[in-house]
Amino acid sequence: MDFSYNENQKMIADMIQQFGKKEITPFFKEWDDNQFFPVEIFKKLGDLGLMGVLVPEEYAGSGFSYTEYITAIEQLAILDPSIGLSMAAHNSLCTGHILQFGNQAQKERWLPKLATAEYIGAWGLTEHNTGSDAGGMATTAVKEGNHWVINGVKNFITHAISGDLAVVIARTGEKGNSYGKTAFVIEKGTAGFSSANKLDKLGMRASETAELIFDNCKVPNKNVLGNVGDGFIQAMKVLDGGRISIAALGLGIAKGAYQAALQYSKEREQFGKPISKFQAIAFKLADMATEIEASELLIYNAASKKNRGEKMTLDGAMAKYYSSEVAVKVATDAVQVLGGYGYTKDFPVERYYRDSKLCTIGEGTSEIQKLVIAKQIIG
Ligand SMILES: Cc1cc2nc3c(=O)[nH]c(=O)nc-3n(C[C@H](O)[C@H](O)[C@H](O)COP(=O)(O)OP(=O)(O)OC[C@H]3O[C@@H](n4cnc5c(N)ncnc54)[C@H](O)[C@@H]3O)c2cc1C
Repeated sequence: MDFSYNENQKMIADMIQQFGKKEITPFFKEWDDNQFFPVEIFKKLGDLGLMGVLVPEEYAGSGFSYTEYITAIEQLAILDPSIGLSMAAHNSLCTGHILQFGNQAQKERWLPKLATAEYIGAWGLTEHNTGSDAGGMATTAVKEGNHWVINGVKNFITHAISGDLAVVIARTGEKGNSYGKTAFVIEKGTAGFSSANKLDKLGMRASETAELIFDNCKVPNKNVLGNVGDGFIQAMKVLDGGRISIAALGLGIAKGAYQAALQYSKEREQFGKPISKFQAIAFKLADMATEIEASELLIYNAASKKNRGEKMTLDGAMAKYYSSEVAVKVATDAVQVLGGYGYTKDFPVERYYRDSKLCTIGEGTSEIQKLVIAKQIIG
């Protein structure tokens, strides 16, 4: 496998770096301090083709593969992990679900709006009482004529308030039946559909997370994605691809933290020499570089399988699990390398440290990834 950047990846990386200098770096601290979700940035990312990275050109997307998608998330995460997370949730979860399971009319109706960021997308699976055990959800959808009536609350939903459209999975059959859930597309403004309770978070503070609320929300039958009853199975397939994006997010965070630590270690002097000359610090940097390389290999392996249309449940879970844990470890060590300065908001590593933790939780915790891996290898 050749992991050097192809022409598209180079173009994407350059474009994001240029964009970030002007549009992200000067503002990220303010967004983080105030938990401000910068919607306008996502509109501009839409203009750059980064809100429909995997969407074919016929639906106004960029038509790239997972290889380019990883680069886009990684580069955004280096600049601001919150922007990387929101971009990933929009692309892989909401847009990805419609792309994989929507019919022709649904794709024509929603994908161009999502790919250009005219619409910001949300994806609702998690509830207050069902996270890892998402299949036990309480939100229900009941068929009445040509409509479905949805009742319930989804929690921890990225873009719940600012999103224009949500893909939502609700129970349409018996509790516990994997084929008893259905996926619906619901647009903002639909009667009975609202959002509330923005969460005050440890990290990823510029990525909005809140509740989606359904109170006798009437959704037309034509908004059902795929077959009635297939929603949970679809969601698991969406998450297979989504895990690559969280792995890429972790990779970007780890790279950002490592680069900051490496640079600082060469400049900071104690006992008359740069701290990088102390083996204790040099070995931390050596571990970081090695673990980042290993993450990258796992991620590109999962992505290349996905690009070839091969089953990659095991590879995606391994990449997500490893890369997330590496992101937390590298960010933690980066704070240590910067000592007291690493503990302040004057340097970027404390934000990487806070943001990295999301990677071991979102789209399936590390424990759940290990369950998936164990099931795949043991049977
Ligand atoms: C910032 C953020 C954004 C998010 N965005 C979205 C979104 O857009 N859409 C969406 O649907 N969801 C979203 N989520 C929800 C996320 O996917 C869940 O938080 C995650 O799946 C874990 O669920 P939970 O928080 O309920 O934890 P729980 O499931 O309650 O888990 C708590 C602990 O128990 C462990 N555990 C649970 N079950 C097992 C088991 N069987 N074996 C071993 N350990 C176990 C977990 O690993 C964890 O350590 C988001 C979450 C966050 C924090």
